[in-house]
Formats: sequence, structure tokens, C-alpha cells
Amino acid sequence: MTNKLVLPTSIVGSLPKPAWLAAPEKLWSPWKLEDLQLLEGKQDALRITLQEQDLGGLDIVCDGEQTRQHFVTTFIEHLSGVDFENRKTVRIRDRYDASVPRVVGNVARKKSVFVEDAKFLRSQTNKPIKWALPGPLTMVDTLFDSHYKSREKLAWEFAKALNQEAKELQDAGVEIIQFDEPAYNVFFDEVKDWGIAALERAIEGLHCQTAVHICYGYGIQANNDWKKTLGSEWRQYEEVFPRIQKSKIDIVSIECHNSNVPLDLMELVRGKKVMVGAIDVANNNVETPQEVANTLRNALEFVDIENLYPSTNCGMAPLSRELARAKLSALSGGAEIIRKEFGCSANKMIKKN
Ligand SMILES: [Zn+2]
Repeated sequence: MTNKLVLPTSIVGSLPKPAWLAAPEKLWSPWKLEDLQLLEGKQDALRITLQEQDLGGLDIVCDGEQTRQHFVTTFIEHLSGVDFENRKTVRIRDRYDASVPRVVGNVARKKSVFVEDAKFLRSQTNKPIKWALPGPLTMVDTLFDSHYKSREKLAWEFAKALNQEAKELQDAGVEIIQFDEPAYNVFFDEVKDWGIAALERAIEGLHCQTAVHICYGYGIQANNDWKKTLGSEWRQYEEVFPRIQKSKIDIVSIECHNSNVPLDLMELVRGKKVMVGAIDVANNNVETPQEVANTLRNALEFVDIENLYPSTNCGMAPLSRELARAKLSALSGGAEIIRKEFGCSANKMIKKN
């Protein structure tokens, strides 16, 4: 389905939640409802997030992460062997402290985590659905492990659990399964030694499309401060792209707009599909469609048009809802400008003479 679309637009993952569901504009925001009301509230939020993406003109839709508190810890909390009541504070990606679950025994997926949510979303839309899961390396970096004492061993167990979940999501009608690996931009040795292997274990046997999202993080202070230390050229992708290129992953999601990433690094994943981040999530200014189009036009020097998927730099969970909606419209507006330049519509490529 997605293969036939031209410049199919989508977001990386999260959108802000309604204020009646969770306190807005913060990460790890606690739920405001309980039990059955919470279940109903989450489904209502899924309906709203779909409508917002539809009105924003997106071609590929997702759950906006409305049913999860956090993109990593919510998945981990559903596994056995994890104690999420006695949390521990750890330093994430060597950058900021967060209270996270603890691994206290063998981790295993006893039941599905997001599959019911995916089935619900599938029942509400005919558009292609993309579903984000955390990647194994980012998972081991977002918890405290007092059992395996080996990041590699733990990542391998997570990869097995992710694979089980991914297969059920695929069977529920998800067209693209995306793994979020912001930690790939930090722990290059681990990416090389076992990070890509763990990711390939997570996608083993899938026939839907698969994506990996590698970014410079949400627009929170710790990430913004870190970016200031990275200099005038951010070349982190240079370390991981050659390995992604050789992997079975179909799509790479990257940060572009307002970043110092040299766009020619995309040459290193030539042939893969690239979700190009044309919306800055760390900035309260709304991009104009022209700005989005400029980013896409620049990316087209290194990515063939049939492989370009316009997207956001990262998740929009910490933004205000109004701002997020405006950014969605800018994204689809920018994609439309480029389609017109190429004489095509979202649904078909028109051959020019
Ligand atoms: Zn991200």
C-alpha cells in the first residue's frame, strides 16, 4: 500500500495527549483516569489522534503513542522479570537522569503489549498504519539491570520479545513497524558489536515493512544542551548508516530540519527508504510549507523520490496540541509543494515528457 504513495507523510511517533487523559507538555505524565475509564479514555484519544492526523493531511497514520506513558518504559513494564514499582534513577544516553524500571529476573513477554490498541486503530482507519516500538539498544539504556549484568544479553532477550510483539502487530494489520533507536547516535561500539544484530533479531520473519528511527532526541532541555556540544557538523549517522545499509531494515528515519546533519550522509543508505525529518520538534515556531519543501528538495539530492518519506525529526509528545497540529499541516503542505514540482499527486507518479 505504502509503496504506491508518492512522498507519503507520517510522524515519527508521539503526539501530545488530551489534558483530560494526562497532564500535557511533559514526558512520563501520569494518567488522570483509572481502570475502565482509562481504557475508554485511551481509545477516545486514539480516535482523536487519528482525526488530527487525517485533518493534518498525513498519508500514513499511527497511534500518536496515546496509550503509553513513555515510548520505552511502557513496553518494558509489560514484560515479566521487571520491577516497575521500585524504580531506580539512571542516566539516560549519558545525558539526563530519569526514574526507570528495574530488571530483576529473566525478561519475557507473557502477553501482548500494544496489539489490542493496534487492532482498535486498524478498525478506525483505512490508511496504512505505522507502529513504533523501542529498539533493543535504547531499551537497555532506559532501565536499571540488576539481573543480567550484560547489556548485550539483555538486548538479545528484548529483541526476542520485540519480535513476538512485532509479528502480532503485523497480523493486526500494521504495515510498517518502526524501532526507535536514539541510542544508536551515542553508543557506536555497541551498535557495531551487537546493536544491529539485536535489531535484526527483532525483525526476523516479518514481511511488513520495517523502520529504524535514529534521532537527537525530544526537544527537552538536556537534549538541546547536548546538541550545542556537537559542533557545526553532526556526523553521528556516518557511524551507523553503513551498518544499516547492510541490514534488512527497509526504512531509516532521521533528523534533518534545523539540525547540523550533513545531508550527503544519506548517500550511505542509498537504496533504503528514508523518513526525512522536515519538522523540528524542539522549536515552538511552526515551519512554513515552503521551509518543509526546502528540506525535502535538499534531501532529494541524495534520496530518490520514490524512497523519500517526509516526516518529523522526532516525537511531538512534549509540545502543545495546537502547535503539533500546525506542524502536521506544514508537513503535508510541504510534501504537496514538491509533488506539484514533480507533476505527481500523493497517489500516483505522472511521467513527464
Ligand atoms: Zn526521536
